[in-house]
Amino acid sequence: MAKETVKLGSVKRFGPRYGRIVKERLAKIEKVQHSKHMCPYCRSSKVKRQAVGIWYCRKCKAKFTGKAYSLKKLSVQKEKKEEAAEAPKEEAVAEEE
Ligand SMILES: [Zn+2]
Repeated sequence: MAKETVKLGSVKRFGPRYGRIVKERLAKIEKVQHSKHMCPYCRSSKVKRQAVGIWYCRKCKAKFTGKAYSLKKLSVQKEKKEEAAEAPKEEAVAEEE
């Protein structure tokens, strides 16, 4: 299975330097870091990162803390997706027994 290509986006500023793996890793982080997130107070996606761990909603002007590069833990979302994908397989095994 070929590995999925990661779009470099903002990491293109490094040009041909520093290697593919490192740049792909940084691209994933910077994409989340620079994107707008949903506000936990007014539910509009106007939250942007001000500084490390500081997030600011441009609609309701709420300033609050989060993760350094994202609003919430990224790994949690991935685990949920993996669990959902694995769950039907486990049920199938149980039926066979
Ligand atoms: Zn808000």
